[in-house]
Amino acid sequence: MTRTPIHAASAVVLALGVVALGCPRAAPLGAGGETVVDLTHAFDAATIYWPTETGFELERGFEGRTGAGYYYAAHRFRAAEHGGTHLDAPIHFAEGRSTVDAIALERLVAPGVLVDVEDACARDPDHAVGVAELAAWEAEHGRIPEGAIVLLRTGFGRHWPDRARYLGTAERGAGAVAKLHFPGLGAEAARWLAEERRVAAVGIDTASIDPGQSVRFEAHVALFEREVPAFENLARLDALPPTGFAVVALPMKIRGGSGAPLRIVAILPPP
Ligand SMILES: [Zn+2]
Repeated sequence: MTRTPIHAASAVVLALGVVALGCPRAAPLGAGGETVVDLTHAFDAATIYWPTETGFELERGFEGRTGAGYYYAAHRFRAAEHGGTHLDAPIHFAEGRSTVDAIALERLVAPGVLVDVEDACARDPDHAVGVAELAAWEAEHGRIPEGAIVLLRTGFGRHWPDRARYLGTAERGAGAVAKLHFPGLGAEAARWLAEERRVAAVGIDTASIDPGQSVRFEAHVALFEREVPAFENLARLDALPPTGFAVVALPMKIRGGSGAPLRIVAILPPP
C-alpha cells in the first residue's frame, strides 16, 4: 500500500495530542482531553472461541510470598490463535500472504471509521453487509479514506459472553458450526473495501468477518488475498462515533502465526 495511510494516521494521532512535538517529554495520554476506549474483551474461561476450539486456559503458577520475603505471581496460558478479541492474518485464508509478524504497522495503527449496521442485523441475524450499506454510510459521513480501519458494529457485541446469543448456538464441536447464526461482511463488500477503498483493515463485533452461515468464507478470502487483515470479537463499538478517531490494534507478534490475540483501542478527540 502507499505511504498515505501512515501519514493520515499520524495526522490523527498528532491532532489528538498524543505526541507533543517540540516538547522535551511526550504529553501523557489524556492530557489534551482525548479518551481511550478499550475495544478488547478480557481473556478468561468464558471467552468465546470457535465451537471446534477449546477456550482460553490460564494455568495458575506460583502466587504468594516467597522465602526471600517478596510477593511473586507468574502463570501460564494456552489458547488457539483465533478466539476472543483477535487478529486474522491474511495467510489465514490466502496462501502465501502475510503472517501476523509480517503485517505492516500502517494496517494496525490508522484512522478509524465506524459503520453501524445494527438495524439490519437485528432484523436478520444472518445479515451480510453489502456495498449499498457502505455507500449509504459514505453519503452521510463522506468517503471512507484510503488506509482507514473500518469497524462494523452489528450490535452482537452486547451478547458477549453468552454463546447461545452471540454465536447462535452454545453447542461445541464440529457439528455446531452449521448452527452458527450471526451477521458479517458480504463477499462483494469485502472486495469493494479492499479494492475500491484500499482500507487498511476491517473489524467486527462478531466471531467472524463472514456471517455465521458462511461455508466458503468469501469475505475472509476477498480481504486476505488483498492483504487486508481482520479484527474479530471486538468490544464496545457502541462507544465510537462514525469518524474522527484513531485505532491502535497490536496483536501478539507470533512469527508465522495465522492469527493472534489482539489488544485494540480507539483514541477519541476531546468532546
Ligand atoms: Zn480469526
